[in-house]
Amino acid sequence: MGMMNWIERLATDVRELLFPRPCLVCGATLGLQEQVVCNRCLSQLPYTRYRGLPENPVHRLFYPDTAVQRANAWMFYHQGSDTAHVVHALKYLGRREVGRTMGRLMACDVKPTGFFDGVDALVPVPLSRPRQRRRGYNQSEALASGIAEVTGLPLWPEVVERTVDNPTQTRLSVEERRQNVEGIFRLCDAGKIRGRHLLLVDDVVTTGATLASCMAALSVAGGVRFSVLCMAVAASAACTPDGLAIDLDV
Ligand SMILES: [Zn+2]
Repeated sequence: MGMMNWIERLATDVRELLFPRPCLVCGATLGLQEQVVCNRCLSQLPYTRYRGLPENPVHRLFYPDTAVQRANAWMFYHQGSDTAHVVHALKYLGRREVGRTMGRLMACDVKPTGFFDGVDALVPVPLSRPRQRRRGYNQSEALASGIAEVTGLPLWPEVVERTVDNPTQTRLSVEERRQNVEGIFRLCDAGKIRGRHLLLVDDVVTTGATLASCMAALSVAGGVRFSVLCMAVAASAACTPDGLAIDLDV
């Protein structure tokens, strides 16, 4: 070990000692090599293990849209789950780096299955401008930045914008949710995405209505194909795709 490495290592050790970082899930102090979630918790998160399954429940949310080539969610989400701690920190505690770390991890997980093959660019599902200003960042873009690190794919957040925030989705039927989000996205650069295969990135998918609306806006460019990668899927969405009473968009 060179002198500089040794000094850097010592500086990290001292920083860990003075500013211990807790695991988002169990609260235990993270070790030097651990980020956001400790290795023990990471081994026990409620993974969907959909990777490599072409007809998984997340992909089925978008049937019969044949423009959707692949779709996956990394973990199950329900209230009180370990995933909920991660989602909460990412969306409501200002922990942008949680997104980048989780994005890296999920990209490493699905990459060996060929999930990114043929994809041209990453498009995070946008927030409305006022909401992004309040939060300081878009959590889906934070996830996408982690995916970009692993895949080398370009990030194209500028090709679509969200003109309206979803009104609350709680207690809406699948059909009502679909109408609720219709026309809330606007295509900003048709020339850039025409004929491209875009990977849409989102934090939590419930019915897929918001993603479908975003794809409808992007499709106006012509010849666009899509894949979808989400950090989590609401557990009930994966089991029974109707009658949901979960509001993830507060
Ligand atoms: Zn932990």
